[in-house]
Amino acid sequence: MKNLLVMKFGGTSVGSAERIRVAARIAAGEREKRPVAVVVSAMSKVTDLLLGTMRHAEAGDRAGMEANLAALRSRHEEACRELLPEAKLAGVLAKVHKIVGEFERIANGMAMLGERPPRSVDEGVAVGERLAALLVSEHLKAEGTPAAAVNARDVVVTDAVFGNASPLMEPTREKARAKLLPLLRQGTLPVITGFNGATADGRPTTLGRGGSDFSASILSAALDASELWIWTDVDGIMSADPRLVPDAEVLAEVTYAEAAELAYAGAKVLHPRTLAPLAEKKIPVWSKNSFALEKPGTKIVPSISVANGARAVTSMANVALVSLEPASPELSGVQVMARALDAVARANVEVLLFSSSSYRQNFCFLVREEELDRSVEALESALALELAHHYVHPIHVDRDVGLLAAVGEGMQGKPGLAGRIFTAISRAQVNVIAIAQGSSELTIAVVVRRDGLERAVRAVHAECGLGQRPPVPVFPFSPKKGRGGQGGPSH
Ligand code: ASP
Ligand code: MG
Repeated sequence: MKNLLVMKFGGTSVGSAERIRVAARIAAGEREKRPVAVVVSAMSKVTDLLLGTMRHAEAGDRAGMEANLAALRSRHEEACRELLPEAKLAGVLAKVHKIVGEFERIANGMAMLGERPPRSVDEGVAVGERLAALLVSEHLKAEGTPAAAVNARDVVVTDAVFGNASPLMEPTREKARAKLLPLLRQGTLPVITGFNGATADGRPTTLGRGGSDFSASILSAALDASELWIWTDVDGIMSADPRLVPDAEVLAEVTYAEAAELAYAGAKVLHPRTLAPLAEKKIPVWSKNSFALEKPGTKIVPSISVANGARAVTSMANVALVSLEPASPELSGVQVMARALDAVARANVEVLLFSSSSYRQNFCFLVREEELDRSVEALESALALELAHHYVHPIHVDRDVGLLAAVGEGMQGKPGLAGRIFTAISRAQVNVIAIAQGSSELTIAVVVRRDGLERAVRAVHAECGLGQRPPVPVFPFSPKKGRGGQGGPSH
């Protein structure tokens, strides 16, 4: 749809009545100028609350369940009371209770079975977004903007990977257009649940934690939106985590590829899969702060003509390095690698970095700490025979590590850059454990000792001339630009 603006509000941007009021005002204001569709996350912390409730249910902890249900109810009731006029309150409260009641039935079923079937978890956890969509749409209506809550179950079609589903774009396009275009054409603002969808035969799914960004980009692509704005509680995408690097700055522009790499390597502003659906239509995305409307935010675009060196440095502390090494030369290292990767992929583990070396064919890969047990179990079962017969050395796990990644399209074909990054890390007295750089040269990823991670991030950030300090001149390749094209929020 021509001119359509899709806006996604994250959990903190709809985290209270006051924040919902701001979100609604932003959406209604833009709708005066052009058609707007809104995608919402659950109110902050509600998704964790729902997942916790279902875990209590599975464990048969009735008291824990009841306490969570009470918290869920009162949080949304309270927001309703603050957001809605007396005349509308009873009706909307009844809808809140109906949705919470559905969740209660799902949790009760789990308590009875002593089990948490993945598809029921997906149906249950989507309740957070449904409640948020209800509150936002009702408040918009009460303030005079025609709006309608839409359950993404009816518009986003996915595969059946419960908990981490992927969209099927063709059927989604059909459904989304059939359901949403008529609303938009008649001037109604659809408020769509983020995070969830359903298989073609109607089984409820979710897109993975933080998946509302992804929902918004899927719908932007399906509706041929002209722009997507993602509202969060930070000023945009930054050159580093400001808690680690005091002079980190907000980037005015990054490319899709850079944003995706940064999200993947730990920058929390955006779900890593968000940009993929937008590539074909080159829909621009803005990452904006709903707590600081005057800040311009970061614009994410398909490409930037002037790109120079690294654009940002990101890091992840809660990771673990898993190493494997065939003990017998008879065993093909590549085959062990293939089977190991297949095993972790089946366990739905994300491999953050992979590196292999030497004729001894050892290799290692990095996973999130919370996915470590799952990874090791998967490897142990896939390689049980080889491990039992000592064809493969025992699996080695190192938790005392952190990941640092320097990201930038401008790093491509820049001789000396990797050298400077490693020199900076070693000058900071930090030990490098594993390294990876894909041939796209978009990211240099380095695994370092955990206690040196923050120092290494600061050193690389400074070395790459990012932030507000002047670059440290070493070697002939001093980065001239400093911040050309990626200055602070000044435009
Ligand atoms: N509410 C979901 C979560 O917390 C999805 C999202 O916020 O994007 O993971
Ligand atoms: Mg989120």
